[in-house]
Amino acid sequence: MLLTITTTFQPATDLGYLLAKNPARLHTVDLAFGRAHVFYSEATPERCTAALLLEVDPVALVRDGDVFDQYVNDRPWVASSLMSVAIGRVFGTALGGRSRERPELAETPISLVARLAAVPCRGGERFLREVFEPLGYTVTATNHALGEPFGASRYFTVELSATITLATLLSHLYVLVPVLDDKKHYWVGKEEIDKLLDYGEGWLGTHPNRDIIVRRYLRHDRRLTRDALARLVDGDPDAETERNEAAEEALERPLSLDEARRVSVVAALKVAGAKRVLDLGCGEGKLLRTLLDEPGFEEIVGMDASIRALELAERRFERVPERKRARVKLLHGALAYRDSRLAGFDAAAVVEVIEHLDPPRLGAFARALFGHAKPATVVLTTPNVEYNALFPTLSGFRHADHRFEWTRTEFAEWAAAVSDAYGYRVRIE
Ligand code: SAH
Repeated sequence: MLLTITTTFQPATDLGYLLAKNPARLHTVDLAFGRAHVFYSEATPERCTAALLLEVDPVALVRDGDVFDQYVNDRPWVASSLMSVAIGRVFGTALGGRSRERPELAETPISLVARLAAVPCRGGERFLREVFEPLGYTVTATNHALGEPFGASRYFTVELSATITLATLLSHLYVLVPVLDDKKHYWVGKEEIDKLLDYGEGWLGTHPNRDIIVRRYLRHDRRLTRDALARLVDGDPDAETERNEAAEEALERPLSLDEARRVSVVAALKVAGAKRVLDLGCGEGKLLRTLLDEPGFEEIVGMDASIRALELAERRFERVPERKRARVKLLHGALAYRDSRLAGFDAAAVVEVIEHLDPPRLGAFARALFGHAKPATVVLTTPNVEYNALFPTLSGFRHADHRFEWTRTEFAEWAAAVSDAYGYRVRIE
């Protein structure tokens, strides 16, 4: 279980003063469930990285906590509430916002990147982002997928970047890591409310997912959750809790393949830093609608060959307020033709579209997109024919209009050939 914190604030080695841990030394602290080590993997004036490595003894967990009924579990390897305990013990002064040598710096927002090697997240990447992005973090999440046919797992490597005080970063981690995990290694009591309100001060009360965070932190204990919310907000906490329970249920309902795909595409567009995006073959505009909810996408253009699809997309925006609606534009057009309206974009999404093109038209499509429109990034999906074995009632292709469905190898070969020909780099997920 590894947490690293990196700063490029200069002199970066001041991180040692902020954490009250000398970069030149290895620090080891004994905890009830194992040991915590702090060391620095780099310490130069330009860049400094402190690592908190937790060595969890699964036997000690069983003996002391009597909570886990088995020796074999994921606890030793993942960021959980044990990580919060360690942060409290090892970085207690920093968590409290104090620093003997650098008191002013402790209160100054500096550029910080926290990286957690393995975070179990109930609710997946969407929940992870909904928790950290409203706090101003740029979130990078890499899922540790299981082999076929299981797909994504609940474990992510997570990187959080923000310009923020170290104490705020540590309080976010302290509260939110166990919330993502949604398990606790000890029973919660009333004193947990004080801790939560203490570390949540200044951010939890106004967090859009406040209620879910509170409820998960307090282990879904209704009474504690109600008391905590009552102290956090004015209003009727009962009604609030119920409303939010429904919201979480909706949130955690298993994602359909279609939704999961859209979440991944949006994440890829964000990672690319795209502000002006195209959705080519936008269909009825589901992706466009999702993109509109993300203010970072400043200009969104959907294109489709089907007038009917564009009408349905248009209808989807009817109830969107005009200011927001103004960020999206629909174009009638065809993918395999050069179109100067598509030039100069940061990114293009081409989601489940190329399989509708006759294979001999793919060359013209690639020329028009990669050779002519030339968006900086292209996020392109197409069905994986190997996956079809998992649909019990399917024979043939997934859609009557599909002209082909590729194996993963066929897709990788096409992607490599196109990126070679037009000077793109390719990454397959
Ligand atoms: N991207 C959407 C729709 C996928 S369905 C989604 O993921 O839900 C494929 C879409 O591609 C259809 O809306 C179809 O009208 C459009 N399409 C197919 N061939 C096209 C072409 N040559 N030019 C433009 N759009 C095309």
